[in-house]
Amino acid sequence: MIGKKEAIAGWGNFPFSESYVMQARDEGDLLNAMKENNLIGRGLGRSYGDQAVNDQNQVAVLTKMNRFLDWDATEGILTCEAGASLEEIISALAPRGWLPMICPGTKFVTIGGAIANDIHGKAHHIDGSFVNCVLSFSILLADRRILLASRTENPDLFWANFGGLGLLGIILTVTIKLRKIESTYFRQKSMKIKNLDHMLEALNENDQMYNYSVAWIDALAKGKKLGSGVLTLGNSAKLNELPEKLKKNPLKIHPPSKLTVPFFLPSFTLNNLTVQMLNRVIAFVQNSPREFVHYEKFFFPLDAINHWNRGYGKRGFIQYQFVIPEENGKKNLVEILEMIADSGCTPFLNVFKKMGEAQGILSFPFRGYTLAIDFPVTKRLLGFTPKLDAKVLDAGGRIYLGKDAVLNEDMFKKMYPEYQHWMDIKKAFDPGNLFSSNISRRLGLTPKAG
Ligand SMILES: Cc1cc2nc3c(=O)[nH]c(=O)nc-3n(C[C@H](O)[C@H](O)[C@H](O)COP(=O)(O)OP(=O)(O)OC[C@H]3O[C@@H](n4cnc5c(N)ncnc54)[C@H](O)[C@@H]3O)c2cc1C
Repeated sequence: MIGKKEAIAGWGNFPFSESYVMQARDEGDLLNAMKENNLIGRGLGRSYGDQAVNDQNQVAVLTKMNRFLDWDATEGILTCEAGASLEEIISALAPRGWLPMICPGTKFVTIGGAIANDIHGKAHHIDGSFVNCVLSFSILLADRRILLASRTENPDLFWANFGGLGLLGIILTVTIKLRKIESTYFRQKSMKIKNLDHMLEALNENDQMYNYSVAWIDALAKGKKLGSGVLTLGNSAKLNELPEKLKKNPLKIHPPSKLTVPFFLPSFTLNNLTVQMLNRVIAFVQNSPREFVHYEKFFFPLDAINHWNRGYGKRGFIQYQFVIPEENGKKNLVEILEMIADSGCTPFLNVFKKMGEAQGILSFPFRGYTLAIDFPVTKRLLGFTPKLDAKVLDAGGRIYLGKDAVLNEDMFKKMYPEYQHWMDIKKAFDPGNLFSSNISRRLGLTPKAG
């Protein structure tokens, strides 16, 4: 094996697994690692579960393959190596008036990782998922060829990579379109939400007026307050809208954060009582925002504290994100929220929003409601998520694979019936399953270890 044996995990610090980890600097390093069967690429490790983990096998970290190769300043089109991160792109290009089209809740993701999970942001109902800003990419395949994939060239390979969990090869370079901006500020407003009816009504009324919408929900609230929270809406701020003070430096970028959680906090820090208290603080902060807010706070509030994932303690946490159709949406959401509030598990940082149309083969989003919940890992939680999976499936929904750590193969195949089409493409480009990972074995996308 090439690489150093290390126990690694995703952002949730669950599950940990021993993998042979190597830092790839160029194609040569990757070709070398490919001599041993069984490899998976890894970006900045911001997937929550076992996507970029490969038990007793190889992981190639791609963050050093991050050069910018070409920049078309008229059209806002960037070609870069796939290990470049949104943070690097924002730092270089926001001062010139360009931002990535699709921003998730952290800027610490690579472009390769963004493709492999076809990530989405607060504007999914308007902008769709990451595929919408990708024009083409080049990918190193199992047979050592490098192919270009786009909507017209090798289209099967192109579409199968969005949500394809890095299982078709190593994406080397990517050409993406950025969005022209007049300022790095957003104009936002927030609404206090009384209950689920109010939440769904407010989302329906506002989702075409505002590009960005996202709600925080109190997942411990019950009865009349079930579904209560705060809805935040926003649009990119034009130069002439900005207050005089901000107009002086409208394309300001943010310095790196100095705050950090230096070590794992004790696991008892989060319980229903502390979460209820924290929920009140979140409700207050969310509900009293400034009208003009910098992109850093608007898109990436959690990036303010490095290693915040250690706050959940050594046992780690999962982020459970599902999407369900709008049809019967309210009834299903009530049932799901009641299940969560009664579960005895501790839901924290619950983010709710509406999603737009589906794209891709294994891409997560489709038109409907999505809720993402952090849960500290406990024995009780691991008994509870299969029940929640069954309810989500029953509601016609599915789980986001880019965050998942616990779904089983049977449930996955029912939630993603298109998986068979994806498997045909995998077989065409990687018949020997050179590219595999813990999640691919867990979900039956590659053979189990044997
Ligand atoms: C605080 C926080 C907020 C988040 N918010 C959102 C959100 O709003 N929306 C959303 O969609 N996601 C969100 N995420 C998840 C995150 O955007 C995705 O998991 C993203 O894919 C992570 O990118 P990464 O570079 O860290 O990839 P990793 O986690 O390292 O890897 C992810 C996948 O990409 C593959 N991969 C990486 N590089 C390559 C490459 N060059 N070629 C082929 N495959 C590759 C890996 O094999 C793996 O399967 C959030 C995560 C965090 C921690």
